[in-house]
Amino acid sequence: MTTNPSHSTPSSYYDVIVIGAGPAGYSCAIRCAQLGLKTACIDSWQNKKGQQTLGGFHLNSGCIASITLLESAKFYHRLHHQIDQHGIHVDNISLDLPAMIARKNNIIHKLGDNILSTFKDLAIDSIHAKGKLLSAKQVEITPLDNSPSMIINAKNIILATGSSPIQLPYAPIDNDYIIDSLQALNINELPHTMAIIGAGVNGLEIASIWNRLGVKTILLEAQEDFLPLPDLHISREAYRIFTEQGLDLRLGARVIAAKKQGANVVVDYQDQDGTHTLTVDKLIVASGRKPNTENLTAPEANLLLDETGYINVDENCRTNLPGVYAIGDLNLLGPMLAHKGIEEGNFVAESCAGLKSYIHYDTLPSVIYTDPEIAWVGQTEQTLKTLGIAIKVGIFALNATARAQATGKTEGLIKIITEADTDKLLGVHIIGHQASELIAEAVLAMEFSASGEDLARTIHAHPTVSEAFHDVALVIKQSTTH
Ligand code: NAD
Repeated sequence: MTTNPSHSTPSSYYDVIVIGAGPAGYSCAIRCAQLGLKTACIDSWQNKKGQQTLGGFHLNSGCIASITLLESAKFYHRLHHQIDQHGIHVDNISLDLPAMIARKNNIIHKLGDNILSTFKDLAIDSIHAKGKLLSAKQVEITPLDNSPSMIINAKNIILATGSSPIQLPYAPIDNDYIIDSLQALNINELPHTMAIIGAGVNGLEIASIWNRLGVKTILLEAQEDFLPLPDLHISREAYRIFTEQGLDLRLGARVIAAKKQGANVVVDYQDQDGTHTLTVDKLIVASGRKPNTENLTAPEANLLLDETGYINVDENCRTNLPGVYAIGDLNLLGPMLAHKGIEEGNFVAESCAGLKSYIHYDTLPSVIYTDPEIAWVGQTEQTLKTLGIAIKVGIFALNATARAQATGKTEGLIKIITEADTDKLLGVHIIGHQASELIAEAVLAMEFSASGEDLARTIHAHPTVSEAFHDVALVIKQSTTH
C-alpha cells in the first residue's frame, strides 16, 4: 500500500477519514488536522508513472490545467495578433505544443506536491487506495498495487470523490480521435479542426484554448439557448465576442453519432434543418459531468443517493448516516465548483471539531475561464423579474476605463442589479479580462450586504479596471463621469 512515507501503515482508528483528495477533500483533511483531529485522506488518482497525485480532477485535468494552458494560448495569440500595435515586431513565432503541455504538467506537479507536503507537515495519513464506505464508522481501503484490502474506522467519514465526464454511447471515447475533456488538455500535436460536443462551461473553456492556438473549433450544443446560467446580457455579449473570435457555435445541434474514419472523425448531428455530417481531426466530448458514487458505498451501508447518483444531504452536508458527510460535486447544494467544495470541506471539518461554522451559498461566485472570462455572483435580472422583485440595473462597458484602453483588453461589460426599494446589491455580472479577479469585490460587497450607494461611495484607484465597479454603481445613481 502506498502511503505518506512518514506514516507507512494506516492506523485502524481515526477521528476523520476523508475519501477523495480533490479541492473539497484535501481542504477538509487539512482543516481537520489543523483542528487537532487525527485524519486520513484516501485517494486513488495516479499519474502515468503510477505515482499517487493529489488534487483530483480539478488540479490534474480540470480548471488548473485549463487556466494554465489558456494563459499560454492567450500569450501565443497576442504575439500573433496584437503585439504589432505596441510597436514591437516579432518574427518567426512558432508553437512548441509539447513544451506548452509540459509547462502545464510541471505546474500541476508542483501544486500536487504542495498538497502532499502540507499533509506531511500536518501528519495526515495520505493513503493511495480506493476507499469504500462499509458503514457509518467503517471504510474499506483497497490498494492499487494488489496488496490486501483492510478496514479502517473513524468517528466521522467525509465523502469527497468528485465527479467525472459523462460518456456518450453514440460518441465512444477512443483516447485518440474521440477524447474527453481530460485528454483535451493533453493534445501534443495541433489539429486543424476540432469539434466539441457541448457548449457548457467545460466545452467553452476547452474551445477558448484551442481557438486561441489557431485551431478551427466548432461547438455543437443541443440546447437552443447559449449559456443559460449567467445573466442574459452576459450570455449575449459572450456569444457576440466568441463568434467574432472565430468560434463556430452551432446551437440546437444535437450530436447523434460519431466514429473514426481514416485519420478523421465523422460526426452526425441534428438541428431544425435536419441531419448534418461534419468531418474533423478531433472530437471532444464535454457533455456534462456525473458524481463519482459508483462503488463508493457498500449496499449494506444504506447511504441514500438520488436517482442520478448524487448523495442526499441536508443543508449542513450531512448524509442520512450519522457522522457521514458528502461534500463538493457529490451533493446538489450548489454548482460543481472547486471553491464550493473547498468551503464545504472547511465547514464540515469545523463541524467535526465541534465548532460553530457556516457556509453562505448565496454569495458563491461562478467563473468561466474563457478569453475573456465570465464571472457572476447573486441573481440574474431574469430571475429577479420572475420573482416579481423591483430592481434597478446599471451596465458599464469596460472599454470606458482608461486602464482597459492601456492594456488593450477592452472587451466586455459589468452589470449590477440592486433592489429598487432598499438599494441592496442583488447581483453582479461581468464579462471581461480577469473577470474572475474582479468578481471578488462584488462577492465581498454582497457578503457584507452592501448597497449600490456603498459601492458608489467606495474610492477606487484610478486608472484601474476595478473602478468600473464604482462607475457602474454611479450609473444607477445617474452620476458617472466616464
Ligand atoms: P454542462 O452540463 O454545463 O454542459 C454540457 C452541455 O453539453 C450541455 O449544454 C448539453 O446540452 C450539451 N450536450 C449534451 N449532450 C449533447 C449532444 N449529444 N449534442 C450536443 N450537445 C450536447 O457540463 P460541463 O460543461 O461539463 O460542466 C459540468 C459541471 O462542471 C458544471 O456544473 C460546471 O459549472 C462545472 N465546471 C466548472 C468549471 C469552472 O468552474 N470554471 C469548469 C468546468 C466545469
